[in-house]
Amino acid sequence: MRIYLADLAHTHSVGDASLTVPLSIGYLKAYAVADHGDAVDISLFKHPERLLARVAVAPPQVVGLANYGWNANLNLAVGRHLRQTLPEALIVAGGPNIDPDPARQLAFLQRHDYLDFLVVDGGEEPFSELLHWRRDGGERRSLPANLVWREDGQLRETAPRPLGKVIEGVPSPYLGGYLDEFLAAGLVPMLETNRGCPFRCTFCAWGMASKDLVRRFDLETALAEVRYIGARSTASNWLVCDANFGILKRDVAIAREIRKVRKTYGRPHKCHVWLAKNVTERNLEIGKILGDMTVPVMAVQSLDDEVLAKIKRGNISTETYVEYQKKFHAIGSKTYSDLIVPLPGETLASHVEAIRRLADFGVDIIQNHNMRLLSGAETNSTETRDTFGFRTRYRLIHGDAGAYRRPDGGELRCFEYEESLRETTTMSEAEMFHLRKLHFLVDFCWNIDVYKPLLKLLQLYGVNPIDVLQELLAEPLVGDGRLAAFWAHFDRLSREEWFDGEQAILDYFADKANFERLLNQEFEKLNVMFSVIALRDYKPDFDRSLLAIASATGKVPEAVLRPVADYCFAAFPPLSQSDGSDAVEIPDNLSELTAETAASFQPSTKLHKVRLTEQAGRRRLREILAAPGRMTLSKVLNTQDISLSELRLVVQQDLGFDGQFRRAS
Ligand code: SF4
Repeated sequence: MRIYLADLAHTHSVGDASLTVPLSIGYLKAYAVADHGDAVDISLFKHPERLLARVAVAPPQVVGLANYGWNANLNLAVGRHLRQTLPEALIVAGGPNIDPDPARQLAFLQRHDYLDFLVVDGGEEPFSELLHWRRDGGERRSLPANLVWREDGQLRETAPRPLGKVIEGVPSPYLGGYLDEFLAAGLVPMLETNRGCPFRCTFCAWGMASKDLVRRFDLETALAEVRYIGARSTASNWLVCDANFGILKRDVAIAREIRKVRKTYGRPHKCHVWLAKNVTERNLEIGKILGDMTVPVMAVQSLDDEVLAKIKRGNISTETYVEYQKKFHAIGSKTYSDLIVPLPGETLASHVEAIRRLADFGVDIIQNHNMRLLSGAETNSTETRDTFGFRTRYRLIHGDAGAYRRPDGGELRCFEYEESLRETTTMSEAEMFHLRKLHFLVDFCWNIDVYKPLLKLLQLYGVNPIDVLQELLAEPLVGDGRLAAFWAHFDRLSREEWFDGEQAILDYFADKANFERLLNQEFEKLNVMFSVIALRDYKPDFDRSLLAIASATGKVPEAVLRPVADYCFAAFPPLSQSDGSDAVEIPDNLSELTAETAASFQPSTKLHKVRLTEQAGRRRLREILAAPGRMTLSKVLNTQDISLSELRLVVQQDLGFDGQFRRAS
């Protein structure tokens, strides 16, 4: 039996280094091969055009599609084409993007009308049993558990199957060699050492398929996978896709194995992990082991107790959180936190306060997300939508669009979009538009470090950085008013990215000219796009405005403020500049400036000359930015271990001041 399994990605605008290894279908193959032996011939696909081409020369009897929020419309386009080409084939789908609500499942099956079955809640056993069913002639009454399908316009289903804490009998697709071709092609390796999440945050669907269990794979297998990938992959970036890495004691051993691989092969440079929400000592241990390979994510989503109760989430205490920020900094790690807005009950004031507090806690990267309504999450239910007065709109998922050649000369054109929350009983859309600008400033000025030295200096003197950024928004006419044009441009695109309904976004991109613009990457993520615009066209204007606001606080002595501002502005010169200009002069004793000494600090009149230089990372990034093409910049940055912060010039010596005068690494 010839079987094609596809975890399709929009390959139109990214190269292999920005794709992830198709791990989920690798597991399906590993289980099915162990179960059926030579009776099955299973191929895996990531690229839509490669799947279409293979189907034309060697039609399969069975097709399985992995369904996610970022490929549902690609599956729809490919699936409908396959149904026409392969009328007799069994076509099934599974994945986390399928809501457990029966009405939504029926709607999904009506839309994805090429499907015979949906496999729900973990696919290895049901999919393999479905192959037995097909090989045995396909009697409906002997269908396996965990299936859903549409019959006579109604939803039909088989019983759910019980789950255990230990995942047994699912072989490793890596160790079986089934993912070798993807490792060889440089795709980002993913490791799954356990499945599920014991917490129940209402906006999240991560643990849905595992029913609140943390279902673990065998430790020795996980360690062997790390070694196997290390010996074969050239990718600089790995992902551990456990929802709570560190929740199990054994995760320390897995982190050690990853570190060993880095020592042996010099790769991966980065290994992204989502740390367990509450196991802080172990998180710290893992942070120490992985060191510069990872930025520990300690997400909070909100810091308001009432909001947290409404979303059924309990964060660790503020004291503990701050303590661990310090500990992570002491071992040289940058720290990262997430906020989602608007969560039920969140107000503009409570959200801004959360960003202010995270900045004061010393979080290095504060990522703000517009809340997305995810299939399977409690927030997606009609009841939650009604209770909190949700009003949603639709927008593109950036970079997930493409035009894919069919072997018959035709083309499949499709793009992905998301439904996101724009208004609740406690937050208006006007406030969301305001926050979009503030979030951009947090990203540009704080997360990618463009103004961090200046903001940190103000923080030492009791000025919250977010207050400064709010001031910058309130006073776009500071200086010669050029920033007003920047914000008008930002605001226009920020409003244009939203569509009132699914049909509206579909109609807009059904227009050929609009779709061409999409393929030409004219709809980039706003934060990335405007960071580049700001650094290219408005850098001196931002410099002048921020200096004026900093000065107007009256908190920092001018003799300290000026040289730090000079250094800060010189470290991120306009994009066209290839190297530092003249050396910057700073007081010789700046390394003695701390929160404790700030009040009495006297800058030395003896000045120290520092020369800022461009490193390889900046050169590489400037080349990427200069090359117009089909690459989606935000995707390349996300997946290839590149950050816009690499556009910073660096100094050769460590000059103290809270690590802000950073040395070349
Ligand atoms: S947000 Fe994190 S902790 Fe909460 S349910 Fe999702 S995976 Fe679990």
